[in-house]
Amino acid sequence: MSQANWKPETLAVHAGYSPDPTTKSVAVPIYQTVSYAFDDTQHGADLFDLKVAGNIYTRLMNPTTDVLEQRVAALEGGIGALALASGMTAVSYSIQNITEAGDNIVSAATLYGGTYTLFAHTLPQMGVEVRFADYRDPASFEKLIDAKTKAIYCESVGNPLGNVTDIPALAEIAHRHGVPLIVDNTVPSPYLLRPIEHGADIVVHAATKYIGGHGNSLGGIIVDSGKFPWATHKARFKRLNEPEVSYHGVVYTEAVGAAAYIARARTVPLRNLGGAISPMNSFLLLQGLQTLPLRMDRTCENAQAIAEYLQGHAKVAKVHYAGLPSHPDHDKVKRLMGGRASGIISFDLKASDGRAAGARFQDALKLFLRLVNIGDTKSLACHPASTTHRQLDAADLAKAGVSEGMVRLSIGIEHINDLLADLEQALAAV
Ligand SMILES: *Cc1c(COP(=O)(O)O)cnc(C)c1O
Repeated sequence: MSQANWKPETLAVHAGYSPDPTTKSVAVPIYQTVSYAFDDTQHGADLFDLKVAGNIYTRLMNPTTDVLEQRVAALEGGIGALALASGMTAVSYSIQNITEAGDNIVSAATLYGGTYTLFAHTLPQMGVEVRFADYRDPASFEKLIDAKTKAIYCESVGNPLGNVTDIPALAEIAHRHGVPLIVDNTVPSPYLLRPIEHGADIVVHAATKYIGGHGNSLGGIIVDSGKFPWATHKARFKRLNEPEVSYHGVVYTEAVGAAAYIARARTVPLRNLGGAISPMNSFLLLQGLQTLPLRMDRTCENAQAIAEYLQGHAKVAKVHYAGLPSHPDHDKVKRLMGGRASGIISFDLKASDGRAAGARFQDALKLFLRLVNIGDTKSLACHPASTTHRQLDAADLAKAGVSEGMVRLSIGIEHINDLLADLEQALAAV
């Protein structure tokens, strides 16, 4: 029986590690080291020439992090992965790996706030234009692609609106134009949705959220499907097909073939920009990842019950949760996610003074924690209009799809009765 046939529940516990041959350690050891000794000068030279496999320096690779990379790659069905310091590092490097000044990408406009800011402001300051399209309309992406387009980008399930993207439709458009599809799969996690099976080429994650799952460690990861034909599109992807000046002239598509993208991500953006994950965080994320399927089962069950409760509540105007049959993306939840919509629920309060009502609701919560994060075992609440989106006026809020009285919940794994009781008493305070 080989790893290739294992189900996600088994991969989450075992992929990428068997008891260490030297120590027989059953838990993945924390290799808290910066460097790795060379046997002799020749060994060091061979490592740098990529002639032999081995560790050099923890900014580039680390045995604890390597297990995390192998495990997430196995869960997503990719050929390799690169773990990084945070989700934002993974998002940034996934694009910087194939773009330079003068290039563009085409992205869905409904995005995690940090990603939106990176795309709308920071990448353009570096000369990379981001063209925004409507996730509900795949044709709107196609219209924006030109000879300088290097990728299509989207979130499989958007944070905070829980909207679901038609990944097969975007993959078809991307491939017809010779560009890869990059998908942020943070919200569903590979347990609910595997974008590569639906045509995505590159998957990124904030491992900070459901993969780690306990709100204790930042981390990000890029997974390479190994399927995008970089060598077929030589003119568009020069950096993968021509000698890399910053890595002694290696031509990635020739040296490592299908793994060209992920090998360059490690040896150029990570090596030169330096957003490495700490071995301790890799360990903690691995610890959390083992129970991803169990946590996700409970999270989805709780979230579905809470969304249905909120939908029937007199003080709630609208519930945004694609697990509800009334949600416009519900068909995609059935088609791509086995009918389960993960743990992010947003809802609009009916009260006429939306901003104040949202704040009152949030202040009345006793069990849900008030903070900005998602994907924890603990249930979390956030009132965007007074926190993450407080700089926006009513018009800009509307553009972002956020009402003044909107509350975002990230549902944890507590008992459903305790969660419902807390929501009930907080809604009574509105
Ligand atoms: C949180 C998040 C990120 C960024 O992750 P960090 O680890 O906080 O840098 C990116 N994408 C999505 C969808 C997120 O929820």
